[in-house]
Amino acid sequence: MQKKLFVELGLAPEILKAVERMGFEEATPIQSAAIPVLLGGGDVVGQSQTGSGKTAAFGIPAIQAVDTGLRAPQVIILCPTRELVVQVAEEIAKLAFFKRGLRELPIYGGQSYERQFRGLSAGAHIIIGTPGRVMDHLERKSLRLDQIKLVVLDEADRMLDMGFVDDIKTILREVPAARQTVFFSATIPRPIQELIKTFTRNPVNVRMEEQALTVPAIEQIYYEVDRRSKLEVLCRLIDLEDVKLAIIFCATKMMVDELTEHLIARGYSADKLHGDMTQAMRERVMGRFRKRAIEILVATDVAARGLDVDDIEVVFNYDLPHDGEDYVHRIGRTGRAGKGGKAVTFVAGREIYRLENIQRFTKSRIRRAKIPSAEEVEGKRATAFAEALRETLEKGEYKRHDELLDQLLEQNHSPTDIASALIHLLGEDKPRTGQTIPEDRGAATRNFPDPGARGRRERGRDEQESPRRPRSEPREPSGPREEAGTVSHEAGMVRLAFNVGRAHQVQPGDFVGVIAGVTAIPKGEIGAIHLQATKTLVDVAEARVALVLKKLNGIQFKGRKLAVRLAAPKA
Ligand code: AMP
Repeated sequence: MQKKLFVELGLAPEILKAVERMGFEEATPIQSAAIPVLLGGGDVVGQSQTGSGKTAAFGIPAIQAVDTGLRAPQVIILCPTRELVVQVAEEIAKLAFFKRGLRELPIYGGQSYERQFRGLSAGAHIIIGTPGRVMDHLERKSLRLDQIKLVVLDEADRMLDMGFVDDIKTILREVPAARQTVFFSATIPRPIQELIKTFTRNPVNVRMEEQALTVPAIEQIYYEVDRRSKLEVLCRLIDLEDVKLAIIFCATKMMVDELTEHLIARGYSADKLHGDMTQAMRERVMGRFRKRAIEILVATDVAARGLDVDDIEVVFNYDLPHDGEDYVHRIGRTGRAGKGGKAVTFVAGREIYRLENIQRFTKSRIRRAKIPSAEEVEGKRATAFAEALRETLEKGEYKRHDELLDQLLEQNHSPTDIASALIHLLGEDKPRTGQTIPEDRGAATRNFPDPGARGRRERGRDEQESPRRPRSEPREPSGPREEAGTVSHEAGMVRLAFNVGRAHQVQPGDFVGVIAGVTAIPKGEIGAIHLQATKTLVDVAEARVALVLKKLNGIQFKGRKLAVRLAAPKA
């Protein structure tokens, strides 16, 4: 089944805007097939699972069908459970964000009738409800169906399994005959076939027919991760395996933006790719990734399509792909040219069923793995540090500091104390992982405030600019830090100096926030950020320099009046 762009589907401008706001880049196969039929007035029978984007497939035409000038229910969506009702109502609310005056109303058992009466009399246009509660309202005459233009049965097979068949038939008989009908069902058993025959007119069948693809011979594992713990687990895995080159896939552009910022703030050398970036920006990022100037690339499926990079060690499915085909495309980025690779998938809650579908489709086994504890990560890091230290000592590849050491020894500090203090200053004796996660079970019982974050942040930024250095390699703690330099190392970028630095408790993300917020330039046009004690060097696209200087000079930032200038004085 083909995928289309939303602009090809005949959507109203306000829906296109909403889809853009939700960060969707292209329509899923089910949306590409169902939306044009429904907008054209036809009936649809869709066979697809949760996760395929089916809610928007019927939700978008439902919203477009509503005449907000008419104060009556015009669409009714039936779902088997209250959870699904709430989920569908939320998705509809997001899709209808820019359609003024549209009211959607979830109605389900367990919620007060009072509230539902109020919603109905206020003129709800789209009703999303469980069959039982919809029947109650029909019997109480608090819900009229005479203006209904579209009926949707979501997860029809489950509704039948739950014994709602008579309610469904009653509701379908109550709605006007001149209406559209949509069935979505994972399976189409005989009773559903009969309902379809009785209640639809020449429906178009829309099925998820995934193309069989060869799954690369790589290690595939998954972690069951609570949504809130995903970032923490991701960082642990990257640290534990000392990943040097990885792609992380997210479902939306927003997720890509967010995750990239979190990773940069935690000190990883990360950048992003998504469809809101200009071709030039994308090429710049891809170029840096190919040159290993970035270790971690966060991307949407669409943006990563043109990416051709060998030696990717791990593909992370931070968000599950929509179908098996996308899964195979994603994981095919690793294990190229017969080299080993790994695909890691995060699964939250009921997504486990979607993963089962993916396994069935790919006919491959995805092994469940245990989330590493914070201690395991720390243990591995300490070992790597000790190893790097030993190697440096053996090779003798370091500058001697006899004078300083003599001074300290003369002041009666023991050699072991001096070495321990140095390790402390390096932050190598502090845990890196930030929070406890439910799976830890006592492994990490404290909530660490992430004391190592600052050091890592700078390191991550530095690594974007300079050749790779092993993560565990020690560097000078407080002595003369390498000056970041006044000139940007990236073509088309200009380095600016801000009069705010580490002493003012800023983080790299704060600069991105203030620059993008005040000037509205895309975040991708802001490059490397070097925090220093009292100032910060920030790379900005050349074409934006004048705007940044004009808009940011003099504004308040972190309690100070900002002064921004070119880092390199003009010749
Ligand atoms: P559903 O199959 O309707 O339960 O949708 C699963 C998830 O995919 C929901 O979180 C949707 O918001 C999201 N989604 C739906 N359509 C798209 C799309 N075209 N691109 C990205 N995400 C989508």
